[in-house]
Amino acid sequence: MDLGLRNKTIVVTGGSSGIGLASVRVFLSEGARVAFCARGAERLAKVEGGLAREYGADRILARPFSVLDQDAVEAFANDVAAHFGGCDALVTNAGQGRVSTYAETSDDDWREELDLKFFSQLRPIRAFEAMLKSSDHGAIVGVNSLLAYQPEPHMVCTSAARAGVQNLLKSLANEFAPDIRVNSILLGLVDSQQWQRRFEARADESQTREDWFAARAAEKKIPLGRLGEPQEVARAIAFLAAPVASYITGARLEISGGVSRFA
Ligand code: NDP
Repeated sequence: MDLGLRNKTIVVTGGSSGIGLASVRVFLSEGARVAFCARGAERLAKVEGGLAREYGADRILARPFSVLDQDAVEAFANDVAAHFGGCDALVTNAGQGRVSTYAETSDDDWREELDLKFFSQLRPIRAFEAMLKSSDHGAIVGVNSLLAYQPEPHMVCTSAARAGVQNLLKSLANEFAPDIRVNSILLGLVDSQQWQRRFEARADESQTREDWFAARAAEKKIPLGRLGEPQEVARAIAFLAAPVASYITGARLEISGGVSRFA
């Protein structure tokens, strides 16, 4: 099946690692032009250099900034317009989770988390909205989490924020139709830099990476018996962002190895 991504321009936020980087790779391998960002300039430049050698520098644009910085997001949108002449799909992926219970979460923590979760969607969407509308295939894929429907006690604040983001993406699917399709990805546990950081901070340092990840899969009772790989998510993101998914909007796709408990 041809996804129809050749010569399309795709923007991925948080593209220097994990799911974002895997998505950038899938889009490039499908013949698209890709613009992406992340805060850490050094890692971003290294990733950009490697991708440019593999796929050609003319199809790649990388800029270091936080998606919470409105001016930087707008400057990035202008850069994308100048380099590639528009944008056909936006993947709002940048972010991270906050591990804390209700008792441990201060008002400032709540503000910071709600700010990250909502504005990491809203700022890029506002900045690219006009370009997406001008495309014949405008699409947004919001990367979200199963926590939106299945809150966890150790991630109270992130869970509540995820639920709000899910609601927001559904509203945008209605408001932007028929010009821009908006779909969401509900993640379970995916082996990325976030989980690597948690592995490195493990209590028992004698535990191998393989054993630690297997223990997480058993603890979470993941039916497929393992965490997901970033490229397994990236393939679904690419499908939803692509012209081939032309009649899909307002949908949520769970990628979790079957770990959800809701029907
Ligand atoms: P990674 O940590 O591997 O990748 C996150 C990427 O986003 C990095 O490129 C990071 O670069 C960038 N980033 C983070 N914050 C910002 C910011 N404010 N502005 C711009 N770029 C940013 O994590 P994942 O691939 O796992 O995460 C991708 C998304 O999926 C995140 O939103 C995460 O919360 C979500 N998710 C992941 C789950 C999982 O199990 N992996 C589960 C549920 C949700 P830098 O740090 O340099 O900015």
